[in-house]
Amino acid sequence: APFRSVDVHELLDSTLLMLSNKFGEGISLVKEYDRTVPEVPAYPGELNQVWTNLVDNAVAAMAATGGTLTVRTARDHDRVLVEFRDTGPGVPAEIRERIFEPFFTTKPVGEGTGLGLDISWRIVVRKHHGSLDVESVPGDTRFQVRLPLTAPDS
Ligand code: ADP
Ligand code: MG
Repeated sequence: APFRSVDVHELLDSTLLMLSNKFGEGISLVKEYDRTVPEVPAYPGELNQVWTNLVDNAVAAMAATGGTLTVRTARDHDRVLVEFRDTGPGVPAEIRERIFEPFFTTKPVGEGTGLGLDISWRIVVRKHHGSLDVESVPGDTRFQVRLPLTAPDS
């Protein structure tokens, strides 16, 4: 299927609405959208899966303590940034390199497959020619998706 021109905010809102049962009870959601960012060429169903994986991880990281998930968008040169920031304990430095590997998980058996970030990386980097990065200190963990404004073959 070809890329479509996607409004990231519309897509984020529909994903977040589907996941709204995860917010409330100690975990709040804040949206910091830059409404001036342009549409991006993308596969909406696949990006939906990426947002779902990143929200799922952020919520799991804050399950014990509560906290805030902030979803932020911004223009970053020739790309659009979509950032998922949580106030959980963070990704320890010693596993930072491994979290994108397939089947790597720190969750108990039956709770994590270790595939969420592997799948997300493949969708963002391989299919959309974007980037997926993590910055993390305790209390401030950011997963950053950057999507190019122009399709790779246009
Ligand atoms: P899973 O969620 O099934 O464990 P993922 O590929 O989605 O698999 O994530 C791999 C690992 O990365 C998690 O088990 C966790 O250790 C770490 N991780 C991912 N997101 C976060 C986050 N927001 N805060 C802390 N650790 C995280
Ligand atoms: Mg996951």
